[in-house]
This record gives sequence, structure tokens and C-alpha cells, in this order.
Amino acid sequence: MSKQTPAFGGLSIDFSGDTAPAAPFAPAPLPEMAIDFGAAPVATAPGGPSFVSAHEGRTESKLIIVGSGPAGLTAAIYAARANLEPIVLAGSTPGGQLMLTSDVENYPGFPDGIQGPDLMGLFRAQAERFGTQVVDVDIDRVDLSQRPFRLWARGIEYKAQALIVATGASAMWLGLDSETRLRGRGVSACATCDGFFFRDKEIAVVGGGDTAFEEASYLTRFASKVHMLHRRDEFRASRIMVERARMNPKIEIHTNTGVEEVLGDEKVTGLRLKDTETGKEREMTADGLFIAIGHRPNTEAFRDWLEVDVKGYLVVRDKTNSDIEGVFIAGDVHDHRYRQAVTAAGDGCMAAIDAERWLESQGITEANTLTAW
Ligand code: NDP
Repeated sequence: MSKQTPAFGGLSIDFSGDTAPAAPFAPAPLPEMAIDFGAAPVATAPGGPSFVSAHEGRTESKLIIVGSGPAGLTAAIYAARANLEPIVLAGSTPGGQLMLTSDVENYPGFPDGIQGPDLMGLFRAQAERFGTQVVDVDIDRVDLSQRPFRLWARGIEYKAQALIVATGASAMWLGLDSETRLRGRGVSACATCDGFFFRDKEIAVVGGGDTAFEEASYLTRFASKVHMLHRRDEFRASRIMVERARMNPKIEIHTNTGVEEVLGDEKVTGLRLKDTETGKEREMTADGLFIAIGHRPNTEAFRDWLEVDVKGYLVVRDKTNSDIEGVFIAGDVHDHRYRQAVTAAGDGCMAAIDAERWLESQGITEANTLTAW
């Protein structure tokens, strides 16, 4: 891989030019390739996206996929290659959580790493190459009472015989301006994704649940010191996780501590903290801040139709099936355990295969023994 330009900002990805010295088994350089997200701006409703797919038009398909993170777009690649001509309703901020990540170093196939938005640009280009229609709209509501399933987005009705729900989960944030400004520059919501960049650095983790303790423990592999900041003096996390952290010499727990501001211009340099009991403020030096205050699965439109568990995640039956025949579920919208791009992508692949087989079983598509997955 040579050059990449931000996919969703600059709207092109260039693999030409300065090819790195070839390893003995290196594949031939990829041909020059430009990724066009249908850059021509169109009039949109207030708050809508600044562009829509060039393939906007169809409103009916054998398969509609809701969501455009790794799960949704992988499902689209598989479904499109199986001639299902899927429509992806991508959301008004397409691309999922990787759009908020800078370097991605654990996605296989990119030995030099890749920027999160660039990776999602590649997913999308690959899905569109095989005939997926991607529309950057949020769905407002759905009716799954009968087939075709019906979905509404910005006043347009979409119909599909099968549906894959891959709407993901969103990390919860503190809501500070400084946190938003420095996201991807030291502020992160994913230790597995970004911990590696904090080798021998001093960092902080916000939260008092199991995720915060798990992330803090993971981060001690890299960081010289991990400060855990929790707004109360009691933890939601299991006792064993708290005890383990207390025993870890690299972890220091600060209770009754709120984060008021993330300090730094170009990158995180410290935090302004507040004692939640006394109101007293102080500053702490830190190179990074990990927010671990929970995730919210994006299930709003489906709650009347699909079962959710106690944490609000969709419930799957037997791999990717939901309780409604023809409705499949993939990615972080049901998976709160792994939450990785590669696991979500794998899930999207499984959902597409399950959807295709189901459509075949219903006689909606012809048996396609030639499908080259
Ligand atoms: P939780 O809801 O359990 O904990 C969230 C934490 O974030 C709480 O301590 C909460 O504080 C704090 N918090 C929430 N909002 C804010 C805010 N605005 N400012 C500061 N702090 C805030 O979420 P988790 O992600 O930790 O866990 C979710 C579920 O997943 C849990 O059931 C957990 O057990 C499970 N899990 C299990 C793991 C395992 O078994 N290995 C690993 C990770 C998660 P407060 O307590 O004051 O409300």
C-alpha cells in the first residue's frame, strides 16, 4: 500500500505511485483506483448528508442492509456478489465507528496500518463495485409485520424481502467540546484499537464499570501509568476486576473525580479534573484519555419489532437470525463482547450468506449454485 488520501474528506483513494519495495511474495501493485462517493453535492434536508450515492434511485430490493460499518458493508459485498443487488441505508454519518478512529493497525491485510475512514472508504468502494446501492440516510421507522418489509427514510419508502440489521453501537462520550476536538488525537473509546500508540505514556481511563477496568488493565501492557477516573466512590464493575486493578502497580484509581476538560492543542497533554464532592479542581498530566462509560446500541427503529436484551442489544438466534424470518442481525448491534471491525465484518459475511440461503429457500431468488462467495 502506498498513498492514501482520506476517503470521506478528499473523496478519493489513490493506490498508485511510490510502491514500497516488494517483499518476496508481494502481490502485483494494484491498478490506479479512484474512489468516488458520488461527490456531486445535492440538495438535502437540513441535517442530512452533503452527498448521496451516485446509484440513488431504487427503492425496492431483495435485500436491504441497514448500517454501513464493517458488518453492513461486508454483508453488502457478499450480497452484491450473489446478485442480490442490495440497497444499503447507510445512515447520515456513514461508515460506523471506524470513521472516528485514526490509525487501524489490527485489521488484517494492512501491514502498515490504515486510517479508519480510508478503510471504510475501501469497504464501500468494494460494495459499490458489485452493484450495491448505498444511500446515506437515517431510517426513521420500519414495519416488519409482513413481507416485503418496509422502511422509511426521509419520507421515502423502501421495500425488501430480506433485511440485515447492522446498525452498530455508539460509544458514549462525556460531551465535552475539548473531548470532541481531540478525538483521534489522544482521546479514544477503544483500548484494543488505540492502546498500542501509548507505549510508555501516562494515560487516563474514565468510567467505573467492567469496561473501564478491562480497558485499564489492557492498557497497562503499553502505558507507563494508567489513572482510572471515576465520578463516584463505588464501582459498577465486578469486585474481582476492582481488586485486580488495585493490585496492579501501574494503575492508580481516583474516585470522586470528574473530567472537566481535556487539555492540549494538537494532542492531549493533560486533564482538568474536579473533585465531585468538594468541587475542587486540579490538573493532571496525561498523553491520552480513554472514555469507557458504556456503549449504546443503535436499535431505536427496531425496538418495536426485535427483541433486545437487558443491555439493549438485539438478540440473535442461531448465528445471525432474529425472531422474524427474513430479518438477520450482524455486528455490534448485537455483539457487546468483541466489538472489533474484523469480527463485525465476519458477522456481516455470515448474515449475507444466511440471507441469500433464506431467499433461495423462499423461492425469491433462484438457487445459485455458482455463487462464488
Ligand atoms: P456500565 O454501564 O457498567 O458502566 C459505565 C460506567 O461509566 C459507570 O461507572 C458510570 O458511572 C460511568 N459513567 C457513565 N456515564 C458517565 C459520564 N457521563 N461521566 C462519567 N462517568 C460516567 O458500562 P460498561 O461498558 O462498563 O459495561 C457494560 C456491560 O458490559 C456491563 O454489564 C458489564 O458488566 C459488561 N462487561 C463485562 C465485561 C466482562 O465480563 N469481562 C467486560 C466489559 C463489560 P456511575 O457508576 O456513576 O453511573
